[in-house]
Amino acid sequence: MTTNDTIPFVDLAAAHRGVEDEVAAGFAQVLATTSFIGGAPVAEFEREFAAFSGRRHCVGVGNGTDAIELALRALGIGRQAGDEVILPANSFIATAEAVARAGARPVLVDVDETYQLLDPDEVAQAVTSRTRAVIPVHLFGQFAPLERIRAAVAGREIAIVEDAAQAQGATRNGDGIGAAGPAATSFYPGKNLGAYGDAGAVLTDDAELATTVRAISCHGSLTKYEHTHLGVNSRLDTLQAVVLRAKLARLAAANEARRAAANRYDTYLAEAEKTLGLDLGRPQAAPGNVHVWHLYVVRVPERDRVLARLHAAGIGAGIHYPQPIHRTVPFAGHAPRPCPVTDLLAGEILSLPIFPEITDAQQRRVVETLTKAVLDSGD
Ligand SMILES: *Cc1c(COP(=O)(O)O)cnc(C)c1O
Repeated sequence: MTTNDTIPFVDLAAAHRGVEDEVAAGFAQVLATTSFIGGAPVAEFEREFAAFSGRRHCVGVGNGTDAIELALRALGIGRQAGDEVILPANSFIATAEAVARAGARPVLVDVDETYQLLDPDEVAQAVTSRTRAVIPVHLFGQFAPLERIRAAVAGREIAIVEDAAQAQGATRNGDGIGAAGPAATSFYPGKNLGAYGDAGAVLTDDAELATTVRAISCHGSLTKYEHTHLGVNSRLDTLQAVVLRAKLARLAAANEARRAAANRYDTYLAEAEKTLGLDLGRPQAAPGNVHVWHLYVVRVPERDRVLARLHAAGIGAGIHYPQPIHRTVPFAGHAPRPCPVTDLLAGEILSLPIFPEITDAQQRRVVETLTKAVLDSGD
């Protein structure tokens, strides 16, 4: 590879090459049987992904946003007018959309500056008599501080629903997603465990809750034409389950490769910081967390100019997320208190390319281009 080759933000083609034959064989089997909804691949994937995550139950659904909505609805949240759900302003907008779709009011609060995750003190400040749930988002691939969030709402009937869309395979104190309450996850193609289209799942240890989610996801019905809940149509596609099974078998290794890549970035960025006297806002894993590095997010001054320089050099960097949720049109006015950390981060954060197959040479070039761009500031 020449030094001028482009470096993609994620390399889905490389991931596909690893599962190509298995996916083709699995697709052929589904096509031969023409069982396009449900069937063995879905049930097998659900069982395997539950086991992988350390949970008893997994219910595949249509996408990650639906997974959050269905988990909330299965808990009865949003049924009463005025129900409130607390979530971080620093997340993908889908978290808030799911709350609104469930019929509840999203209440947006700030994050901490070190890990950029839901701030338990802000949660405590935002609790009212109408609060029904909190959604910690395991942003960028690591757990939000669940114990402190739980302590912030202790003594009240407030559910915890984890948004684990970016955290497949992450653990906290040895346990996987969905230990604190139901976890919703997304298999959007670019996620750590990505399908070839939209897909998602709800994980839980609660058998009854899993059954309710499954009923809601399939027209409110567990037995054909017996409708016990107001449902929707949001099922995990059979062909997507084939892809997910093949990729799940390789997820632990892929997450390990992401961790190795994150360590390399950390080393090279730390070197650059030391020799050039810079602060590049290197991301950190919180104590107790095994981070799966869905995103590798640094903080730089003059971020937009630096990002343009990376793009000009053929490097696929991004921003997650440029517009905090309380700054969007649909959710303006949903933050009861200011969110200064989220607002500050939105102007400084920069996501560097990270994917299991990224090479050492690619990462060196990213860091070199990044540091040059930062040093050129003010010219
Ligand atoms: C991707 C994502 C979602 C939504 O998942 P979809 O499958 O795209 O609906 C929700 N929350 C977070 C934090 C995400 O990254």
